[in-house]
Amino acid sequence: MKQTVLEGREALKKEIDKIAEVAGYLWQNGWAERNGGNITVNITELVDDKIKSLPAISDVKQIGVTLPALKGCYFFCKGTGKRMRDLAREPMDNGSIIRILDDCASYVIIADNAVMPTSELPSHLTVHAHLIETGSPYRATVHTHPIELIAMSHNPKMMGKDVLSNLLWSMIPETKAFCPLGLGIVPYELPGSNNLAQATLNELENYDVVMWEKHGVFAKGLDVMDAFDQIDVLSKSAKIYINSRCMGFEPEGMSEAQMKEMSVAFNLPK
Ligand SMILES: [Zn+2]
Repeated sequence: MKQTVLEGREALKKEIDKIAEVAGYLWQNGWAERNGGNITVNITELVDDKIKSLPAISDVKQIGVTLPALKGCYFFCKGTGKRMRDLAREPMDNGSIIRILDDCASYVIIADNAVMPTSELPSHLTVHAHLIETGSPYRATVHTHPIELIAMSHNPKMMGKDVLSNLLWSMIPETKAFCPLGLGIVPYELPGSNNLAQATLNELENYDVVMWEKHGVFAKGLDVMDAFDQIDVLSKSAKIYINSRCMGFEPEGMSEAQMKEMSVAFNLPK
């Protein structure tokens, strides 16, 4: 049997199992072609002294940014070039646990294998640093390619502030209840670019899920399941909208009054 840091650590194993489960959903939904998408989870609270004393199994790698809030933090990151469908079956062979070093600008891999983290690591870690700085309980970030939501982002009319939020909320009451902040919009930027990271960070101030125009979504959540659920309800609404259009009509949507009634009844923020 392969040696794994998960052995005898129930809480950590449960967290990694959740990541694997969500990776499977991303693949099954058709949102994770080839090596598309990323998952990064802050697991610092689940790391014991023995893990903290584990030696590095990689060279020291530069993050590319200095993030003082991450001092002493540990993350599980999907590996660069790895597939979600493989991560679903073997998370520790398609992702790894990293330790942020004391300079807050570099890291080492500590378990289980020296799988290099995603090339999107700087942007994911920048978001995590911001979550820590603001005292957020959120521990997970997910990037994926939901087909229907991306399709809708090809319509410039839908890229106005909260145009998509209101449209998606109006398709089915639960979307407003379970994605209460709506969908933020980030105009198209080069994947992996600093501009994309900065625009995402800004938009995440006001939303849990943001649309990267013509590319995908980026979500933060309490854990990876929470982040997935919010994307999933938005995607459900997008499917209802598109199905209505395919049947040849513009869906009526819930009325303003009905949406307001939801906000009051469920004490929603918007
Ligand atoms: Zn992508």
